[in-house]
Amino acid sequence: MIIIKTADELKLLRKKFIEAKKDVGFVPTMGALHSGHKSLFQKSLVENDVTIVSIFVNSTQFNDRSDYANYPINIEKDVEILEQSGVDVLFLPNYEVIYPDNYNYRINEYLFSKTLCGRTREGHFEGVLTVVMKLLNIVNPKRAYFGEKDYQQYLLIKNMCQSFFLDVDIIKCPTVREVDGLAMSSRNLLLTKQERETAPHFYKILSQPYTIKKTEEELVNFGFIIDYIEDLHNRRFGAVYLGKVRLIDNVKL
Ligand code: AMP
Repeated sequence: MIIIKTADELKLLRKKFIEAKKDVGFVPTMGALHSGHKSLFQKSLVENDVTIVSIFVNSTQFNDRSDYANYPINIEKDVEILEQSGVDVLFLPNYEVIYPDNYNYRINEYLFSKTLCGRTREGHFEGVLTVVMKLLNIVNPKRAYFGEKDYQQYLLIKNMCQSFFLDVDIIKCPTVREVDGLAMSSRNLLLTKQERETAPHFYKILSQPYTIKKTEEELVNFGFIIDYIEDLHNRRFGAVYLGKVRLIDNVKL
C-alpha cells in the first residue's frame, strides 16, 4: 500500500491512474477503523480498479473540543487493516495540508444541515461538507463511499455533489452492526463496560413500532439522554448520549 501525506503527491498519482484509465474508488474516514469502515472499502475494491482510503480526524467538524481531544486514534492498527484488505493507497494528510486557507473558505448548506444532528452540533456539517469537498477535489474519484449510519451526512454530501456539479457517484452502504445490534462506531471504544452493555438498547428501541414519545420514554428508562428522535424521509433518526458518548443511528420505518 502506498501512503501519501500531501495533496500534490496524491494529485500526481491520480493523474497517472487517469492516464492508465483506472477507475478510482474513494473512502474518506477518520480512522480507528472497524468493520463498518471495512464494508465501505471492500465494496470499493470490488467496484473499482484502485481504492484510496483517507484517514483525517477533521477538527473543524467537532463542535465539542473534548470530543475532538478524546477521539480514538490508532494509525498502526489502521495501516495493518488497510494493507490486509488490499487497499491501494492511504491518504494521510494533516491540518496544514487540508486547510492551507486555515478554514477561511467553507461550504455551507442552509436548510437540511440545520435539522437533526445540525440542530445541536453547530458548525458540524459545515466542517464535514468542507472537508469532503476538499478531499473529493484532491482525490477526484469516480465513486465515493459513505455509510447509512450517518444518513444525514450521506444525503448532504450527495446533494452537495449534485449542487456543485461534481462528477462523482456517491454510493450508500448499509450500516454494519455488532451482533447485539449496536451500530459500529469508532466512538464505541469510549464507552465504559456498563455503558457498552446498555448501548444496544438504543437500536432495539429505535427499531420498535413505537410512537416517538414512547421511544423516548423507553430510552430514558435505560439511562439514555436524548438529543433527538425524529421521523423523516420514511426513516426514524435518533441521537442519544450515554454518559459522555454521543451515539447516532437510524432505521427504515
Ligand atoms: P467516520 O470514520 O466515522 O468519519 O466514518 C467514515 C465513513 O464510514 C462514513 O461514511 C461513515 O458513515 C461510515 N461508517 C461508520 N460506521 C459505519 C457502520 N457501522 N456501518 C457502515 N458505515 C459506517
